[in-house]
Amino acid sequence: MRDAPWNPHPAPAPGEVWHDLHGRAHTYLRISVTDRCNLRCRYCMPAEGLEWLPRAEILSFEEITRLAGVFYDRGVRKIRFTGGEPTLRKELPRLVEGVRDRCPEASLHMTTNGLTLERDVAALREAGLAGLNVSLDSLDPETFATITRRDRFAGTWAGIEAAYAMGYRPLKLNCVVLRGLNDHEAPAFVELTRERAFDVRFLEYMPYGRANRLQPEYVSGEEIRARIEAAGHRLEPVLWDGGPARSWRVPGHAGTIGFITAVSHHFCGTCNRLRLTADGFFVHCLYGEKRLNLRDPLRDGAEDDELAAAIQQELDRKWAAHPDLTAGRIPVLGTMSQIGG
Ligand code: SAM
Repeated sequence: MRDAPWNPHPAPAPGEVWHDLHGRAHTYLRISVTDRCNLRCRYCMPAEGLEWLPRAEILSFEEITRLAGVFYDRGVRKIRFTGGEPTLRKELPRLVEGVRDRCPEASLHMTTNGLTLERDVAALREAGLAGLNVSLDSLDPETFATITRRDRFAGTWAGIEAAYAMGYRPLKLNCVVLRGLNDHEAPAFVELTRERAFDVRFLEYMPYGRANRLQPEYVSGEEIRARIEAAGHRLEPVLWDGGPARSWRVPGHAGTIGFITAVSHHFCGTCNRLRLTADGFFVHCLYGEKRLNLRDPLRDGAEDDELAAAIQQELDRKWAAHPDLTAGRIPVLGTMSQIGG
C-alpha cells in the first residue's frame, strides 16, 4: 500500500470532505458490523444461510472505530451500523459508544430487524444511537414467516414498540414489497402512520446477488402508490430531505410514507454514501466490487493518511450511476447481507 501509484486526485486533508470525480460530496458512511443474520429473508439470503466470514477476518470494535475516524476526519457526519444483523454483534452498545466518542459530530444510526431491540434499545440509546430503521415486511405473522423464513413477527413488533417507547422519532420502518406476498398490505402499512410517527418506507425489490436480474416479485414504487391511493388514502408530498426516499403524508396522519425506488428511479446523482464491509473492505457502491481491503494495511500499521489515500483512489473509480437494474446486466455480487444493506 505504501507503493500506491501517484494519484492526481489526492485524498482530502483532515477537515476537508471526500469527493468523487463526479463532484459528489460523501458525508455518509454505512458500516457493516457482521455478515451473519438471524432471519433468512427470501429476497436477501438462501434458506440454508451462507458461509459466514471467519472470525479473524472481521474487524474488531477498535478497528471499526479507527476506520470510522479516518472517514469522519474527512467530512463524514452520518454513520449507519448495518449488516447482516448488527445486533448479533455482542456488546454492540460498546461499539456505538466508541464511535460516538471518536466521531462526536456524526449522527449515528442503525438498520436492524428489531429482534433484540426490546432487550437492547435502552443501552443503544444511552450509547448515542440517534436513529433507527427497523425492517418489517409484513404486519401478518404468517406472511412475515413466509418472507423471512422465521416465525418471529412478535419479536420484531416488540422491538418496534420498545424503540418507539424509547423516543425514536420518526421511527423508520423498511418494507420490501414483493408481488403476491405482501403487496396487498401497503394500505395497512399506511394505517400505521395514522396515530404514530412511523416513517414507513416501501423499498423496491432490487436484483442482487444470486437474483442478478429483475425478479417476478418486483413491484414499482409507482404501482404501490397507486394502490394506496386506490384504497382511499389521499397523499400529499413532504419536502424532500435529500435522502433516497421521496415521502408523502396522508393529511392528518402523524407519520409519513416514503418510496425507495432504487430500481425504477435510481438516486445515484445525489449519492453521498461510502461503505465499509464487516471484513474491512471499502466499497463505493452497493453494486461495487470489494476491491480495497483496508483491514490488512490497518493491521500492518498503516497511518490514517495512507488509508485515506487508498480510499480516495478507490472512490475515484465510483461510477456516475450503477448499471440499469432493469436491463439484466447486473454485476454478480455477494448478498446484500454480505456487503451491508
Ligand atoms: N438485518 C438488518 C435489517 O434487517 O434491516 C440490516 C441488514 S439488511 C441487508 C438491510 C436492508 O436491506 C433491509 O431493510 C432489507 O430489507 C434490505 N434488503 C435486502 N435485500 C434487498 C433487496 N434485494 N432489495 C431491496 N432491499 C433489500
